[in-house]
Amino acid sequence: MKNKLAILGGTPVISEKEAHFEWPRITDETREAVMKQLEKDVSIYDRSGIFAEFEDAFSAYHGTRHALLSNSGTSALFSMYEGLGLSTGDEVICPAYTFFATVSPMMYTGATPIFCDCRDDGNINPDEIERHITSKTRAVIITHMWGIPCEMDRIKEICARHSIALLEDCSHAHGASFKGQKVGSFGSAAAWSIQGQKVISGGEGGVLLTNSDDIFYRALLQGHYNKRCKNEIPKEHPLAKFSLTGFGQKFRAHPLAIAMANQQFRHLDEWVAQKSIFAKQFTDAFADYPFLCMPSCPDGQPSWYAFVMQFNAEFSNGVPIEKFTKALHAEGLIEVDMPGSTCPIQNLPLFIDSNEAMPRLYSAKRVPERRFDNAQRFYEQAIKLPMWAFPEDYSTVERYIEGFRKVMQVVTTQPELLR
Ligand SMILES: *Cc1c(COP(=O)(O)O)cnc(C)c1O
Repeated sequence: MKNKLAILGGTPVISEKEAHFEWPRITDETREAVMKQLEKDVSIYDRSGIFAEFEDAFSAYHGTRHALLSNSGTSALFSMYEGLGLSTGDEVICPAYTFFATVSPMMYTGATPIFCDCRDDGNINPDEIERHITSKTRAVIITHMWGIPCEMDRIKEICARHSIALLEDCSHAHGASFKGQKVGSFGSAAAWSIQGQKVISGGEGGVLLTNSDDIFYRALLQGHYNKRCKNEIPKEHPLAKFSLTGFGQKFRAHPLAIAMANQQFRHLDEWVAQKSIFAKQFTDAFADYPFLCMPSCPDGQPSWYAFVMQFNAEFSNGVPIEKFTKALHAEGLIEVDMPGSTCPIQNLPLFIDSNEAMPRLYSAKRVPERRFDNAQRFYEQAIKLPMWAFPEDYSTVERYIEGFRKVMQVVTTQPELLR
């Protein structure tokens, strides 16, 4: 019988075992861009060549004054915190549900992360932000999780009313927008990773955007000593005297990585548009199954870095999420994933035993946080698909939909087979 589930001995929907999703997309155009750069420069000391080209295009795309490339998203985030001049005693409000590198680089400044629970879409809850503001709060950092923009109207308003800096981690959200405005342009500064899996990728790399001269100059001093600092920090600025040495670190990007990222960036809008078409196809196809909730964002355009659904066991007729994903894998849907390392982070050792990791900055162990129910639930219920970006992926998308439908049908009509 064609409809017999593969997990019960039937024929899988997909039999190809090799990856069904490959990222980043390397084409002749990519090879050409990298080869051209290889012949030209593999180390750039100032803001010239491919660095200038990428930074100009990236800041123009977001309508922001300064862009600064670096060797990773983590460095870009660190430079952003450092740019703000955070130090011991400062508090920064953070999401509990994010990739840990949103918050971990802040620990080098001595500031204290104050974690918040999320809403049902996985993004930080604005009410929680407001509840956690104290006289010590200097900033709020948000992550547009999986490419779904946060509730920017409220978050912006809260930060403005309390005069605290709004920072964005846009590493999942290249090209996403909220009510027509690009994410990364809402606050004091924003950081992107352009690591291998990200929508815009140079293999490794990061970008910082800011309208603030002071954040930009401090970020330059943090990791781009000598030429860039000398050329870009005005002579009369009080920190200009540090231009030769910077503050002791080097975060410069690799020109080959940026040549690749620059070529990828030219396709961003086209990829986001295609991802949106496929995302809608999944959403429409699964609308009638109450145990699988689709991601959505009525006020924004997601980047669809990933398509993260929520499995609601209340409506799954006793079928557990593990069995459901196992059945999908058996159908050959190997890209179906339950994300592991992106989880509630509030009780990771770095954030609790900070005094052991960095005794010079933290004098005491932190009291472990309560559990954040929404973040924990979102994490435990998450079923993730990559979102395909090219028209030729149409048949893969169709077969994934078919595979899901086959398993979902059994959950609905013969759930005992999957309990
Ligand atoms: C990837 C990622 C980072 C870290 O970026 P790297 O380039 O790997 O250093 C930080 N935050 C989020 C949300 C990410 O997805």
